Amino acid sequence: MVQETNQKPVIFLSEGTKRTRGRDAQAINILVAKAVAEAVKTTLGPKGMDKMIVDELGDVIISNDGATILEEMDVEHPAAKMLVEIAKTQDEEVGDGTTTAVVIAGALLERAEKLLDDGIHPSVIVKGYRLASRKAREIATQVADKISIDDKAMLKNIAMTAMTGKSGAEAEESLATIVVNAIMQVAEHTKEGIVIDKDMIKLEKKEGATLSDSQLINGIVIDKEIVHADMPKRIERAKIALVDSALEIKETETDAEISISDPEQLQAFIDKEEAMLKDMVDQIKKAGANVVFCQKGIDDIAQHFLAKAGIAAVRRVKKSDMEKLAKATGARIITRLKDLNKEDLGFAKLVQEKKIGGDAMVFVEGCRNPKSVTILIRGGSEHIVDEAERAVNDAIGTVTAAIKSGKIVTGGGSIEMEIAMKLRDYATTIGGREQLAIESFADALEVIPRALAETAGMDPIDTIVELRAKHRGKDGKYLGVDVYRGKLADMSKLKVIEPLTVKTQAIASGAEVAEMILRIDDIIAGSAKSKGKGSPSESSEFE
Ligand code: ADP
Ligand code: MG
Repeated sequence: MVQETNQKPVIFLSEGTKRTRGRDAQAINILVAKAVAEAVKTTLGPKGMDKMIVDELGDVIISNDGATILEEMDVEHPAAKMLVEIAKTQDEEVGDGTTTAVVIAGALLERAEKLLDDGIHPSVIVKGYRLASRKAREIATQVADKISIDDKAMLKNIAMTAMTGKSGAEAEESLATIVVNAIMQVAEHTKEGIVIDKDMIKLEKKEGATLSDSQLINGIVIDKEIVHADMPKRIERAKIALVDSALEIKETETDAEISISDPEQLQAFIDKEEAMLKDMVDQIKKAGANVVFCQKGIDDIAQHFLAKAGIAAVRRVKKSDMEKLAKATGARIITRLKDLNKEDLGFAKLVQEKKIGGDAMVFVEGCRNPKSVTILIRGGSEHIVDEAERAVNDAIGTVTAAIKSGKIVTGGGSIEMEIAMKLRDYATTIGGREQLAIESFADALEVIPRALAETAGMDPIDTIVELRAKHRGKDGKYLGVDVYRGKLADMSKLKVIEPLTVKTQAIASGAEVAEMILRIDDIIAGSAKSKGKGSPSESSEFE
């Protein structure tokens, strides 16, 4: 035993093969996972605190967003990485509830630790947790309410719930409206139901002005300027060419050792280059384009020819923007200008350059595909627009998830309390040691109202006791934590609404990672495969 406890825990996989087994391995993994969950727990909810993450280069990120914090945190331990993974999955699947998923995972492991201390075998805990996870999601689905895509007011509540605490409070309302309108715009009613392609909503940020100056643009906004002063700045009925190669003469073609002995030769050389560039512009002209978006550079001389032809051009457009432009305008991205045809051009009613916050941006409005929209986020500083972007992203995720599943629940810890209560009833029907695990699962879910109560300065124990009692009574279903007033309240009246899938996904992934960690009873530090050979200490040991 002494040997066991003296053994150094493997926290970082490095030099040599170290090994930690059995209960020790579990204890370390649980410890690490709990620490990660603890780190993000205080950010939960609208009154949650922000985290400031400073990287090696001194760059600073201030965020309240679980996924962002975890992504930026430099975690090394594999158990910590597993938690970061579930936050990412949660973000991709439903776009919100990342902190919730991680905090639930942490709480599940904390409860599991107690069960392990009581001598309950990990496989029993895993089995109980699995039953509980399935039942919890079933309960959530049963208590959820229906929502229709036409219920704009409710969708706005969902957007606001996702954004509270993440952006300036005064702007949440206008941003929520923008998000809902954007989604309505891109939503397609098909035979299989409503399809929402979130990629059709482009987010563009520009510092300056305030969050409430953010706007929804019917089309695509490109954060670039029209490249030459003599080009038109406003083009109606735009015929758009998308080119992903440079409108330049490749350096290799001219840089090659050329020894020019007389001025005539030099002139001939320059003329040739100019002719080649003119030829490129002629191809564009011939196809009938009056706007060009180029992913690479555009030579000064080519710019001049384009301007002379009355063609507006934008250079160094991001690849992702090129793809969005293709989708929105119906244009085909061309690599060889020789291939450019009339059919490859896209269409927009209006392309114009506008000054936003002192910088020029190009607006492509009235696209062939009316489903593409841009949310232009404004705000006083880089940190504000960045955090607002994350908030808008979460809101897009939740509103989409709500429309897709057609079901919503109330937040503020109310749904977690309701599930916990019904889960305890279910546990008694299972009996045995699994019952204990299911009850622990129920306790673990209460971490959400507890954490919310803590951010509001309420007594967490009193809060849980009162919530438990009142959820048993009639009209208790929606009771949760009103973090602003520091008391319990009906969350449906406060309009704290979330999509069902954010909760079911958070519970599922929290349970999954807890299960995965509980199953591990051996940590073996391997050497990095990419290094080819083992680490020096390892090789000396075995030689
Ligand atoms: P996550 O990354 O899990 O989405 P958040 O920091 O966004 O974490 O917090 C989400 C939690 O905050 C949810 O439980 C949600 O119900 C709760 N919440 C949101 N708005 C309110 C509110 N106005 N009052 C009480 N709780 C709220
Ligand atoms: Mg959230």
